[in-house]
Amino acid sequence: MADDCLFCKMASGEIKPDILYEDDEILAFSDINPQAPVHFLVVPKRHITTLNDLEAEHANLVGKLYLAAKRVADEKGVAQGGYRTVMNCNTDAGQTVWHIHLHVLGGRTFTWPPG
Ligand code: AMP
Ligand code: ZN
Repeated sequence: MADDCLFCKMASGEIKPDILYEDDEILAFSDINPQAPVHFLVVPKRHITTLNDLEAEHANLVGKLYLAAKRVADEKGVAQGGYRTVMNCNTDAGQTVWHIHLHVLGGRTFTWPPG
């Protein structure tokens, strides 16, 4: 666990988000500032600061992020209509929490390309 990392504190149970899915390695919870009718985050419990810090040893874990995303999207009723997944990397992309997280947004349509 990294010091003063919000998502590490959620992973350890020190801070309790609105949990949608949890297993030994993964936590999914509602975003506190939703940008769509459905907006949740999927995070690894182990601390990885940004996408730039991913190593080959994390490949299975990243796959599990998407499996959890798909599962919760289905439970939230947006799987058929569609949803967007986004992982922001560093400040140019708008990353503000320094522990990787997959955004999953659904329940409305999205433009492409993004602004
Ligand atoms: P990013 O800007 O990609 O780093 O995304 C960080 C996300 O974390 C934003 O969508 C925030 O709304 C969300 N967030 C920040 N604090 C919390 C919290 N306490 N519980 C749930 N989501 C949070
Ligand atoms: Zn962390």
